[in-house]
Amino acid sequence: MSSLFRAKCRCGQLVLTFTQPPAAQLVCHCQDCRSVGGKPFASVAFFKAEEGCEKGDFSTQDLTGGSGKPKQYRSCKNCGEFVYATVDVLQGLLGVEAERVEQPFEFKPMAHVWTCEKVDGINIPEGTVQFPKGPPFRPGR
Ligand SMILES: [Zn+2]
Ligand SMILES: [Zn+2]
Repeated sequence: MSSLFRAKCRCGQLVLTFTQPPAAQLVCHCQDCRSVGGKPFASVAFFKAEEGCEKGDFSTQDLTGGSGKPKQYRSCKNCGEFVYATVDVLQGLLGVEAERVEQPFEFKPMAHVWTCEKVDGINIPEGTVQFPKGPPFRPGR
């Protein structure tokens, strides 16, 4: 249990810790991620819920995913910063905003998803795996 991965919000009230590295890493271009995260795309590290624990209070924004299944975006109740999302189609995984994960974590996305909703002017590096919608597989190890 030497590797401990930690993510937290700006004010430090909401903290997630994981004993294992993320099961998958994706860049998501969907409109919901963009509006909730306030960025042109979201960098997401999927950690297994069973390998982590959570401290602090969050507020939840309920939305419907591209699959038609519910998803929940969770933000710190105190500072309001978006920290992670859960998606019903990806049960057991927490999609943590990669920029909130502390060093020595390094974001290395395996694919870009929901590129059909990509913002104009955002260039995806050549040779990158891309999916116009959600990933056609369950991210995980
Ligand atoms: Zn906070
Ligand atoms: Zn998204």
